[in-house]
Amino acid sequence: GRSMAELIAEGGRSFSFEFFPPADEAGEEQLWNAISALEPYRPTFVSVTYGAGGSSRDTTVRLTSRIARETDLLPVAHLTCVGHTREELDAILAEYAAGGVRHVMALRGDPEGGPRAEWTATPGGLEYASELVALAAARDFRIGVAAFPDRHPTSPSLDHDADVLVAKARAGAEFAVTQMFFTAADYVALVERVRAKGVDIPVLPGIMPILNLAAISRQSELIGADVPDHVVRRISAHDGDPARMRAEGIALATELCEELLDGGAPGLHFYTLNRSRATLEIFEQLNIRV
Ligand code: FAD
Repeated sequence: GRSMAELIAEGGRSFSFEFFPPADEAGEEQLWNAISALEPYRPTFVSVTYGAGGSSRDTTVRLTSRIARETDLLPVAHLTCVGHTREELDAILAEYAAGGVRHVMALRGDPEGGPRAEWTATPGGLEYASELVALAAARDFRIGVAAFPDRHPTSPSLDHDADVLVAKARAGAEFAVTQMFFTAADYVALVERVRAKGVDIPVLPGIMPILNLAAISRQSELIGADVPDHVVRRISAHDGDPARMRAEGIALATELCEELLDGGAPGLHFYTLNRSRATLEIFEQLNIRV
C-alpha cells in the first residue's frame, strides 16, 4: 500500500481525527456517533489512543480492528512503552496486525506522575519511542510518532526535540502528529528545524479547542505546560457566559488552523474527545464542506 506521507499529500489537505477508548456502552455509542458525523469529511485516518493500563488497552485493540472491519476509514492504533516488556509490545503489534490494523502511533507514554515526572523504563521494556518505532517497522507497520512544537516538558531544548523527531523518522516513522499547542509560529519553527536536518517527514498539527475554564487546567495537565496567558485571557473574558466562551474557543482554534494551513501545514489533526461538534464548528468557520 501507499505510505502515509503519500496519503497525507494526496488531497492537498489532510484531515484526521483522534479518539480515546470509551469506558462503557454509553461512551461507545457517543464515539460511533462522532465517527459517523466526521466520516463525510473523508479523513486520511482516524486514531485511537492507548491508555495507561487495564481494560482500556484491550478496547484500543478491539476498536481499531472494528474500524478496519466495518468502515472505510483507515485506523491508526496508538501504542506506548508504559508497563510493557519488549515481548509484550511485540505481541500487541501482532494483535493489531491480526485485526487488520497496519498503522500505529509509536509512543513512549508518560510516567504515572504525568508528563513532567521522571521516566523510568519498565524492566525488559523500551526507553524511548524510537525503539518502539524500530519494533513496529520490523513487523512492516506504517508508523506515526509524536512531535512537540512547544518543547516536550522534559526536553532540554527545541533543538533536542527536533533531533528526537529526526531519530524517530530515521528509525522508520512516516509521519508525525504534534501535541496540542497555541502558536502557529512554534509549529513552523519545529518543521523548519527538522527540514534543516534533512528530514522531510510530514508533521500534522494537533488541534484541541479550549471550550471552557475546566479545559484550561485539563490541557495544561495533559501537555505538562501552562496554557499561554493570551489564550487564558481570551477564554476567561467570557466567564459566566458559557456559550460565548465556547464560541471564543472555537474562534481561537479556527485562527490557529488558518495560520497553520497558510504556514504550509499539510493538514489538521483534531483531538476530538470522542465528540464531533467542536470539529464541525471549526470546519464551518474554516468554510470546509463535505
Ligand atoms: P519519546 O520520543 O521517547 O520522547 C520522550 C522524552 O525523551 C522527550 O523528552 C525526548 O526529548 C526524550 N528523548 C527521546 N529520545 C531520546 C534520546 N535518544 N536521548 C535523549 N533523550 C531522548 N500517551 C499515551 O499514554 N497514550 C497515547 O495514546 C498517546 N498518544 C499521543 C499522541 C500524540 C500525537 C502525542 C503528541 C502524544 C501522545 N501521548 C500519548 C503522550 C506521549 O506519550 C507523551 O507526550 C510522552 O511524554 C512522549 O512520548 P514520545 O513518544 O514523544 O516519547
